[in-house]
Amino acid sequence: MTSNKTSKTYQPGELIFLMGDEGDCAYIIERGRIEIFVQDDDQRTPISVLGVGEIVGEMAIIDGSPRSASACAIEETELIIVSRDQLSERIDTADPVVRLLISILLKRMRQTNQKAAQTIVQKNNAPAPEADREPENKSNSCPSDYSEKDGVIEKIRFEAKLLDALKSNSFTLFFQPIVDLQNQRIAGFEALIRWISPTGTMVRPDIFMGVAEETSLIVPIGKWVLHQACRDLATFQAELDKAIGGNEKIFMSVNISGRQFGDANFFDELESATQLAGVEPKHVKLEITERVLLEGATVFHWIQRCRDMGFPIALDDFGTGYSSLSYLDRFNADNIKIDQSFISNIVENERTAVIVKSIIDMSHGLNIPVIAEGIESANELAILKKANCRFGQGYFFAKPMPAQEALELLVSQAKANAA
Ligand code: C2E
Ligand code: CA
Ligand code: CA
Repeated sequence: MTSNKTSKTYQPGELIFLMGDEGDCAYIIERGRIEIFVQDDDQRTPISVLGVGEIVGEMAIIDGSPRSASACAIEETELIIVSRDQLSERIDTADPVVRLLISILLKRMRQTNQKAAQTIVQKNNAPAPEADREPENKSNSCPSDYSEKDGVIEKIRFEAKLLDALKSNSFTLFFQPIVDLQNQRIAGFEALIRWISPTGTMVRPDIFMGVAEETSLIVPIGKWVLHQACRDLATFQAELDKAIGGNEKIFMSVNISGRQFGDANFFDELESATQLAGVEPKHVKLEITERVLLEGATVFHWIQRCRDMGFPIALDDFGTGYSSLSYLDRFNADNIKIDQSFISNIVENERTAVIVKSIIDMSHGLNIPVIAEGIESANELAILKKANCRFGQGYFFAKPMPAQEALELLVSQAKANAA
């Protein structure tokens, strides 16, 4: 057997797991075929043959009982490892009725498997032609054969790739400037994650953060983002200081997903990330979307705790949720980020322009500076400046870029401004 972090390769005849073993993982067959069999004394009785795309060994990790059959490779076979966490995470957070149904189904499946194995053993004990000992159902005896299966397996496969990416340092941060519209200077950056895929292409977060957020993978990924963003902020601040001196400090915005708040270590991570990097919490802005606030009262408690620790909070994608205004009533945001769907309409649509102006006016009354997202044109910028919007971000100023480029832009602009 050869293995890397998330997959294993077996040679023909090699045992994958043994009946009675404790199951610590399940497998997806990426390549090859495996045989499931039961062993009674010297008698080995095949139950089924599974091929590419099938999942195997899932029962033992769902309900914690020992493996009910053995498995071995028929030909050279590559298996993707599905950890207990990957499955139990989903089951634990599923609807209680669904969980109950799963446990009932598992029980029934085990009974059916046992009966099937006994029948085959009895049948084989009677004299029989050799051909009868072939598995009766060569294609698939996997009962989880429902229409969503392919999508689910694809997701688990993707998760394994993300885990690999995390272990092999394949994530990187891009930085997009947030500009003070009063003086056109860079006030800070938003850190945006990118994945350098095994083929070398740069993958944007919309493709993978959804899957990461469905599982606990978002926690280690989010931790990495937080620590890296703080380290980069320290470099940016130090280089800026070297270039122009003075006390002007830029900020770094970091996106935080709802699941990160639920992690017991989150607040320790906030503290250690800033301390290790040597940056102040007041310069690390936590961006939280309205979607996160939908999760209820505890989130407001977590947010207050972050603010008490000195971290400013920006309400991201403002205006896209159901009760944007009520959120403003319930907690003190330090910034509002008006979603780019509004900004992209303000030139053509008078009504959108009025709504955006009203949000900005209201924010002035609440003393919450607004950041307009997704500014792409000079016309959009002109309307926002006229409405007294304080900060802007968008392709009109700069697209997200690697750290070195962001640093060069920051320093060259600061030098030009100082001259
Ligand atoms: P977001 O937080 O709303 O980030 C802004 C997104 O708008 C970024 O997409 C940025 O590249 C894009 N953008 C900026 N200016 C413009 C513009 O002028 N026009 C257009 N069309 N787009 C613009 P990106 O980097 O693909 O990120 C997408 C989303 O993924 C982010 O939306 C955020 O929700 C999430 N995300 C990114 N990085 C992280 C991260 O480190 N942690 C978490 N939890 N989420 C992240
Ligand atoms: Ca954001
Ligand atoms: Ca946003």
